[in-house]
Amino acid sequence: MALITISGYPSSGKTTRANQIFNFLQIKLQNPEYQGPNLKVVLLSDDSLDIPRAAYDDSKLEKAARGALFTAIQRLIARDTLLIVDSLNYIKGFRYQVYCAAREMKLRVCTVYVVATPDLCREWNSKRGDGHDYDPDTIDNLIMRYEEPSSMVRWDSPLLTVMWEDADIPGPQIWEAVTLGSIKPPNSGT
Ligand code: ADP
Ligand code: MG
Repeated sequence: MALITISGYPSSGKTTRANQIFNFLQIKLQNPEYQGPNLKVVLLSDDSLDIPRAAYDDSKLEKAARGALFTAIQRLIARDTLLIVDSLNYIKGFRYQVYCAAREMKLRVCTVYVVATPDLCREWNSKRGDGHDYDPDTIDNLIMRYEEPSSMVRWDSPLLTVMWEDADIPGPQIWEAVTLGSIKPPNSGT
């Protein structure tokens, strides 16, 4: 049905937002007012693929990790699935490749750009305590190479942005982007 690509700096809050999006979509699908097709929400991430943060310290490892992520995306995208891809997704060419795979299956797409300042990312990374912290040099390197999503290119749009100080995700806009046309208003039969 749809593919939601999360993109953002390392330790910018991507997984936090991906979980919020996952919960939001689950609640929408369980709402009795929802009359669209049966859909499941699937969350794919570096962690679910056991890709260690150290993969980003080395370009060969990183390329292999990206390959594994793309293979998993191809395996999981489906007409009955809302797939959330929670990874850095910082390379424009990679986002384009993912977009093409989704469009080939006629899926809807949406990109969520999770924004935090480099200083906040470094601070949150150093305080993680979940064992998923990046090497500080790797963070700087990834921030430098980060290719910002743009609503001007078709593979990044619709583009929704979440700022670090936002309490919540733009749930209704994401819902609109991924399910447009599947929701009938409650009184549509009359
Ligand atoms: P990422 O998936 O981008 O690496 P995470 O969502 O895992 O980032 O968050 C990294 C760390 O930053 C976590 O410890 C998390 O609790 C913290 N964090 C994430 N978003 C925020 C926020 N908006 N404000 C404060 N702390 C945050
Ligand atoms: Mg994460």
